[in-house]
Amino acid sequence: MSSSQEKAGVALRHVEKVYAAGQAPAVDDFTLDVQPGEFLVLVGPSGCGKSTTLRMVAGLELPTGGTIAIGGRDVTNLPPKDRNIAMVFQNYALYPHMTVRANMSFALKLRHAPKEEIARRVAEAAETLGLTPYLDRLPKALSGGQRQRVALGRAIVREPAVFLFDEPLSNLDAKMRVEMRAEIVRLHHRLGATMIYVTHDQVEAMTMGERIVVMNGGRIQQAAAPLEVYNHPANRFVASFIGTPPMNLLPPGLLDLGRTVGVRPEHLRVEPFTGTEQGLVGSVDLVEPLGAETIVHVVLDQLKTPTIARLPGDAAVKHGDRGRVVPDLAHAVYFD
Ligand code: ADP
Repeated sequence: MSSSQEKAGVALRHVEKVYAAGQAPAVDDFTLDVQPGEFLVLVGPSGCGKSTTLRMVAGLELPTGGTIAIGGRDVTNLPPKDRNIAMVFQNYALYPHMTVRANMSFALKLRHAPKEEIARRVAEAAETLGLTPYLDRLPKALSGGQRQRVALGRAIVREPAVFLFDEPLSNLDAKMRVEMRAEIVRLHHRLGATMIYVTHDQVEAMTMGERIVVMNGGRIQQAAAPLEVYNHPANRFVASFIGTPPMNLLPPGLLDLGRTVGVRPEHLRVEPFTGTEQGLVGSVDLVEPLGAETIVHVVLDQLKTPTIARLPGDAAVKHGDRGRVVPDLAHAVYFD
C-alpha cells in the first residue's frame, strides 16, 4: 500500500519464559529467525506456548532468558510502544462509542500525526479492507467480520514493521473465518510486511503460512514450509498434529520394517479381502462419504486403533467389509 512500509526480521535467540519458579517453562529455548516480509505461523495445541512467544515479541511479557531483536535492534527489554509492532487479537476491543474512522485514527492521533496523513492512511486502509462505506458507523452496527476488519485497519494505519496476530479469527463463524483468512493473506501480499500469526488450527496454519512453526510443550518441534511439514514431519508429534485425518503410525511389528512407519491416509489403498490372510487385514469400521473423497476407518486384526484411508468419492466400501490395507511406501516416513 504505502512505500513507507518497513520490513523487519525478528530474531529470537534461546528465548525462555518461566512464569513461576519451579514451574516448567511455558517457552523453552526458542530460537528462530523470522525473515523480513515473511508470513510465519506459530501452531500447536492449547498451552504449548504460542501466545507467550508472540507476547514476548510484542513486549507484553518479558522473557526470563534469551534475546529478541526486531530489525537488527535488541528489543528484549523495550516496552511495546518502542518496538514498531502492531498486534491484532481475538477480542478486537474496538472503542464502542467511536466510529470506524475514529477507531482507525486513534493510534495516529495519540502520536500527533498530521491530520492529512491520518486521513490518507485511514482512507487507504479502509479501501484495502472494503470498509470505505462503513467509516462513519459505530462498531455495534457492523458484523463480526467487519469488526475484525476494523481491528486489522487499526493495525495497518500504524504501518508497523511487524504485524502480530493472536488467534484473530477464532471468534468468527466458519464461513467468515475462511473469508478472513484469504483477506489476511491478500493483505500480506499487498503490504509485504513481516507477519507472525498464532493459531491452534492446523488447517489455518497450512493454508496461511509461508512457513509454519509447530510447537509442543514450549518447544519448537519443526519449522518449515507447510508441505514440507506435511510430507516430512520431523517427529511423531508433528505427524499426528498436522493433517486431518492424521497420519497413520503403523507400529514396528506390523510391516516388519523395524521402525514405526508413518503413512498419510491418501497413501493407503483398501483392497477387497480375497481369502488369503496376508498383509494388513481388518474390518471396515466407519465410512465417511464426503463427495469428492471417502474417509474409511479400518480396524486391523493386529491393531486396536483404526487405520484411516482417504479413498476416491466413489469407493465401494461399506461398514463391516473385510479388506486389506495396502500402504504406498514410496510416501512413507519412518520414526524410531
Ligand atoms: P498457547 O498460546 O499455546 O495456548 P500460552 O502461551 O498461552 O499457550 O501458555 C503456555 C503455558 O503458560 C500454559 O501452561 C499456560 O497455562 C501458562 N501461562 C500462560 N500465561 C500465564 C500467566 N500469565 N501466568 C502463569 N502461567 C501462564
